[in-house]
Amino acid sequence: MEVPPPNELLAKVRALPAAPVLLDHLTDAVPVYLVGGGVRDLLLGGRPLDLDLVVEGDPAPVAAALGGDVRTHDRFGTSTVVVDGFTYDLARSRRETYAHPGALPDVSPAPLSEDLLRRDFTVNAMAVALVGPAAGSLESAPLALDDLERHSLRVLHDASFIDDPTRALRLARYASRLEFEIEPHTHALLDSALDARAIETVSGSRIGAELRLLGRERDPVSALRSLGELGIAHAIHPALGLDDEPLARRALALLPDDGRRDWLALVLAARHVPPPELAYLLATLAFEAADRGAILAAATKAPALAGALERARRPSEVADAVGDGGPELVSLAGALGPERQAREWLGRLRHVQLEIGGNDMIEAGVGQGPAIGLGLHAALSAKLDGRVEGRDAELREALRTAQDSG
Ligand code: ATP
Repeated sequence: MEVPPPNELLAKVRALPAAPVLLDHLTDAVPVYLVGGGVRDLLLGGRPLDLDLVVEGDPAPVAAALGGDVRTHDRFGTSTVVVDGFTYDLARSRRETYAHPGALPDVSPAPLSEDLLRRDFTVNAMAVALVGPAAGSLESAPLALDDLERHSLRVLHDASFIDDPTRALRLARYASRLEFEIEPHTHALLDSALDARAIETVSGSRIGAELRLLGRERDPVSALRSLGELGIAHAIHPALGLDDEPLARRALALLPDDGRRDWLALVLAARHVPPPELAYLLATLAFEAADRGAILAAATKAPALAGALERARRPSEVADAVGDGGPELVSLAGALGPERQAREWLGRLRHVQLEIGGNDMIEAGVGQGPAIGLGLHAALSAKLDGRVEGRDAELREALRTAQDSG
């Protein structure tokens, strides 16, 4: 691949939205490089937003000089800085060794040339100098530019997937997002790492972190397809994987903007994992409690909800069928059949709220107790079905039901 001369490459960096803030705060005191996916995307003609930086020396003063909100992650000075809404990840240039397969690496300072060799894929092992006389020049691992030109994903050494099996999930993500081929030897190395059950050597939380990133891809269906085709989903759990792509696309298309695409993507991949195993798997993968609850509910309840929605006639019956289910559950249920009812709930019914509350009923003389909930539910049903309109009518309906229930 033709690399632009340093002045042109630096101009391309400077044209990125996040670059001016950064470049204005750097000095020549310590070498700083733009690295990783940002360089890859820049050379491919893209406009990366968040920038990864490597410092050949202590990153702390560089992070401080940026002047934003600095969060330091480890004693090695790895930090995330947010300035003016842009995010910069800073790390000290390092070498990494692995005490045993799947372990977190032991790190020690090293020049940039070595830092590039510890990376996941050649196309991510490139750096552009940002300061000093070499500013704008590109340094890359062997074959990085050829691979970028050929659209090829290649690991940097044969033990790569054994050292760090999370790279298998990263491979699936890049293969689908960049639409790059997997270089044949890298493919063979992946297969043998999976055969050797390398995935089982990594902590669940690290696998979970990569799965969450995969769910946040612009096209999670294609990323999950790669995960399945490469045999990685199966290595995480035998029942994990996307089995019905058209269904997945329909479900994601139904999900409204405030729904969680990443949750739904995982639901689609996990819906054939038996519920108790899924609960255990999500805990092992270190999903937070709220995520676990929503994913589990959607993965396990969608078929029954689809049936109930098919049978629902009135809007209130649709709402009752959904109960406290979330948009991810309803989108999947709708994709399984009752699309019209799902759309109605997602687009309108879930936003309908009463003008009255429990206090209004208490003020009207209803005692504390279940009658209040029953009354409010009846009023909401009546409102959804168009039988009442306005505060007074809602209250009348709620009070009538509360009295009947007593
Ligand atoms: P993108 O954001 O496009 O997915 P990125 O390159 O920004 O890609 P990050 O996860 O931010 O991805 O990682 C930054 C860089 O760190 C990568 O480009 C890669 O060089 C390196 N890297 C990240 N994870 C690993 C890993 N598990 N093993 C080796 N190198 C890694």
